[in-house]
Amino acid sequence: MRADYEEHKQSQRVLKSLVDERVKQATISKGVMIIYTGNGKGKTTAAMGTVIRAIGHGKKVGVVQFIKGKWENGEYNFLKAHNIDFFMMGTGFTWETQDREKDTAAAEMVWKEAKRMLADPTYDLVVMDEITYMTAYHYIPLQELIASLQSRPESQSVILTGRDCHKKLMVLADTVTEMVALKHGFDQGIKAQKGIDW
Ligand code: ATP
Ligand code: MG
Repeated sequence: MRADYEEHKQSQRVLKSLVDERVKQATISKGVMIIYTGNGKGKTTAAMGTVIRAIGHGKKVGVVQFIKGKWENGEYNFLKAHNIDFFMMGTGFTWETQDREKDTAAAEMVWKEAKRMLADPTYDLVVMDEITYMTAYHYIPLQELIASLQSRPESQSVILTGRDCHKKLMVLADTVTEMVALKHGFDQGIKAQKGIDW
């Protein structure tokens, strides 16, 4: 028993020194680009969790949400009530509409706000939720998004979410997490729950 304990202690010591060494080597301080992609649940909520974390440190945060017809979601209600810059597409935007002109105008309105924030060094964190679909469906030119991300202030962090993220964006990012759907209640007939799914 005692030998087991000593062995465990020794291996923990080795592990700690390896971790300490890696921590010592991570010396860069800068705004980071994070992507949450994949088919599993948790992309938007991970982004919103980081928003809360940033606000808790008094950081200035801006959020844009490129979503289809699900208005008044919990994060919007909460953050707007706390005076956080939060822009989402106006009513009328759904993937089903055949009115591409109207959809493009809605996307451009939100993208304009995102571009403004990406050029403003007073924003510490800019979240672009569900933006991957905007480039996939050519509502926002990919190159324009990349240029805005590359020229953003050095200290500004950005988070992009959405399925099927373009490879060029993933190459540009510092941190990319793929949510994997091992299981989802929806497949067992559980409908989207208020306060959990939206
Ligand atoms: P969340 O907003 O819960 O973090 P998400 O951003 O990862 O989810 P989206 O692809 O944006 O997921 O989908 C939005 C909605 O679809 C949410 O209500 C979410 O709970 C639900 N959803 C997410 N993943 C799945 C899945 N694998 N199957 C069915 N529904 C899903
Ligand atoms: Mg989402």
